[in-house]
Parts: sequence; structure tokens; C-alpha cells
Amino acid sequence: MARKVRRKAAPAVPKPKKAKKPAAPRRRRGRPTKLSDQLFERAKKRMPGGVSSPVRSFRSVGGTPFFVKKAKGSVIVDADGNRYVDYVMSYGPLLFGHAPKAVLSAVRKALARGTSYGAPHRGEVELAERVCRLVPSMEKVRFVSSGTEAAMSAVRLARAATGRDLVLKFSGCYHGHADSFLVAAGSGVATLGIPGSPGVPSDLARATVTARYNDLASVEALFEAHRGKIAVLAVEPVAANMGVVLPKPGFLEGLRRIADREGALLLFDEVITGFRLAAGGAQEVYGVRPDLTCLGKILGGGLPVGAYGGRADLMAQVAPDGPVYQAGTLSGNPLAVAAGIAMLDSLRPEVYRQLEKTSAALEKGMRKVHEETGVSDRLTLNRIGSILTLFFNPGPIADFDDVKRSDGPAFTRWFHGLRKRGVFIAPAAFEAMFVSTAHTAKDLERTLAAHREALREAFTES
Ligand SMILES: *Cc1c(COP(=O)(O)O)cnc(C)c1O
Repeated sequence: MARKVRRKAAPAVPKPKKAKKPAAPRRRRGRPTKLSDQLFERAKKRMPGGVSSPVRSFRSVGGTPFFVKKAKGSVIVDADGNRYVDYVMSYGPLLFGHAPKAVLSAVRKALARGTSYGAPHRGEVELAERVCRLVPSMEKVRFVSSGTEAAMSAVRLARAATGRDLVLKFSGCYHGHADSFLVAAGSGVATLGIPGSPGVPSDLARATVTARYNDLASVEALFEAHRGKIAVLAVEPVAANMGVVLPKPGFLEGLRRIADREGALLLFDEVITGFRLAAGGAQEVYGVRPDLTCLGKILGGGLPVGAYGGRADLMAQVAPDGPVYQAGTLSGNPLAVAAGIAMLDSLRPEVYRQLEKTSAALEKGMRKVHEETGVSDRLTLNRIGSILTLFFNPGPIADFDDVKRSDGPAFTRWFHGLRKRGVFIAPAAFEAMFVSTAHTAKDLERTLAAHREALREAFTES
């Protein structure tokens, strides 16, 4: 049994040569010949848009998504055997690339002990201890199953703890799809051009007010207008869901100061930045201590995990210690927790040195291509550590309004140009590229060669 699982969980490293196409599927008249296209046809009949999460549908760039057969390291392989250097990395969780040994082996061991208990277990304690050690502002932590749940629960706690209703967020920031956050949101919400979402009661949408990222005056103005009513300032300390947008010096410190002055709580949504920018996340890098923090993505190493935590006095209000109810059948799931422990135990300083080295080389190579192609002044590349975004407009890009000026059609041509040359980035302009420790110098070489050609196509109007 263990053998079989092992073989399934750890596919052989795909050969460097282009994999052979699987035996031609039986053709029916009018049926697509590619397996991915066939799967997409079937998927669309039974799943909205044929996908489990909107951005995967390629809706904003056109064409049909590929369906994944397997992935290992920096490479993802589709159902038709095409191989891609992957910069989507599951939108962030895969800091060490696909299927890293430490995580597979931890999950395999956990699997043999059962998949869910409905009772506490040692793994949760060990993961909680690690999270609180790495992120000292998190004195206590509650595990959930996604970043969405983490943000949703943190806001409930903030509202309860302050006795206030309003949530302040920043346009272009994404905090998952809980109702209170589907207002001026980034990521797929921005990609599809949805201002908010139908189905969110207007009274609830009104309880979310929106400021401009990197603009403290816009925050002050909202506090002026809603004095004593704002429970929480929720922010991605480095915005990564409108593409990567860095906080200006003083921005995060300013939010801390305003929150303290106004008796509001400061919530850092570190679902992407946590364990990625540093072992202690963006709050370690920028030296600003939030009251509450949300984690996800890397914390689960590709399995469903989220967490929220912070000041012990606040967490004391969460049930069963306090009255703020929040629960989950699969929360603290033993497989996910085992993956999380393996991830966090792999976060040594050299990991961040390597990520920085690879990512800096990628940035440098891209900039060189831009200069040689003579298009530098039409592009902006934002990067911090292992997340970066290429915007198709001149910079600087400091907020969502700047982001929205990016040339969408040029991005789309660039995306398809990369894809057909075996480089996979998110099929949406408002996302980050994720570099992992599995990306090699060879991957970068291939990426930059593809980038050079794809960029020419991007700037050739068709
Ligand atoms: C991905 C993300 C979320 C939502 O996490 P899910 O696991 O997709 O629910 C929340 N906040 C940020 C900053 C994210 O990047």
C-alpha cells in the first residue's frame, strides 16, 4: 500500500526531452484532438467555466487552459505531454517547487496514521509552536483550511473585539472571497472587472470602506468620515494580488500609527508574503507589528491550510476561550499540518539567499531583454524577493489606479507568447510571478529566451 501511494505521490522526474504525446485519443467528428481541450469541453458541462477557481479558466486572455497531468520541481506537464517552466506555483504555496521530497515524505507518513480525526493531535501543536516562533506578533494561532477562511475569521474577531462594524481595505488588495472583502478586490475579481459581487448584501458591502494603497491621506479621510466606527485596517503588507506593488517607506508604519490613534486593529494579510519574503514574513522585513495576521498558501505547502492569529488578548476572544465563534471539521487536518511542518522546517536562511539570487537574476535578465528590445520605457517591473510582476505601462506603479493602466492586449499577447514557448505565468495581468528554490539557471535561460520573443509579439499589434 505504502509503495503504491509513494509511486503516485512522487512521479518520476519528467525527462528533459519533450514528453511523447500519449496515444491519440479516439476521434469523434468535431471533437478537439488535444486532451486538454477535450477535458475542458467536459468540464464546462458540469463545472461553471470548467474550473474550480475563476482565474484558471483563461477567461481574460482567451484560449483554453491546459489540464495538468503532473508536476515536479519547477516544471508542470499538461495532459498532452507539454512541459512548462512554472511561475504560477499554485499561486504561491510552492516555495520549494512542486512535490518537494520533505513534504511528500511527511504527508506519506501522516497518511498512514489517518486522514482526519475530529480531535486534537500533536501535529497542530507543533505547527502552532513553529508559526508563533517564526512570526512573533502571533502569540496564538487558530488553524483553518484556506486563506479566505483566515481573513473572514480575523475580521469577525476584529469586529467583536472593537465593537465596531466597518472594515477598511485597499483597492486592489485581495483577502479571499468572504463577503466583506469582495469590494474593490484584486486578483480574479479585478481580472474579471467585477466591482463587487452580486450576492453580497448591500448593507454588508457598505460596511467595507476602501482606501488607496500607499496613500495614507486616503486612510485619514476615511477615519475622518467614519470616526469611531472602523474596526480594522486590513492590508497586504506587500500587495501581490494587483500584481506586485511595494509599500512606500512609511506606509505600513503610518497604518500602525493611525490604527493605534483611532483604536482600530491592524490586520496584515500575509497569505502570500508569509514565509516567502522572510521566515517572519513582510512584518519581519518592514519591522511593523500588526495586531492580527492571516496566513495560508506556503503554510500548507500545497495542501489546504490557513491560519489567523495575533495578540493573545484578542485570540482569547475566540471560541471556546471567548464568545467569537469559528470552527471547522477539517481544521488542523493532519495531512495538511504535516505538510506545513515540513515546509516551515525547511525555511533555512540559505533558502532566502537562493530565492533572492534566482529572482534577481531573472529580473536582471528581463531588464536586459527590455533594453535590447528597446521597450524599457513602456514597461515596469516590480519585484521583492521571489515575487515579481511585469506591468505593460511606464512606472512607478504604487496603487491600483497605476496598475489598471497596464496594456491588457499587450499582456495577453505576451502571455500566449510565453505559453507557446513553454513558460507558464498566471493567465491574468493582476498576478505575481512566483520563483521557487526549484527554478534553475537553465529554467531562467529558457524563460528569458521565450521572454525575448514573446515581448516582440506583445508589442506587435495583431
Ligand atoms: C490567496 C489569498 C487569499 C485567499 O486564500 P485562499 O486560500 O485562496 O482562500 C487571501 N489573501 C491573500 C493575500 C491571498 O493572496
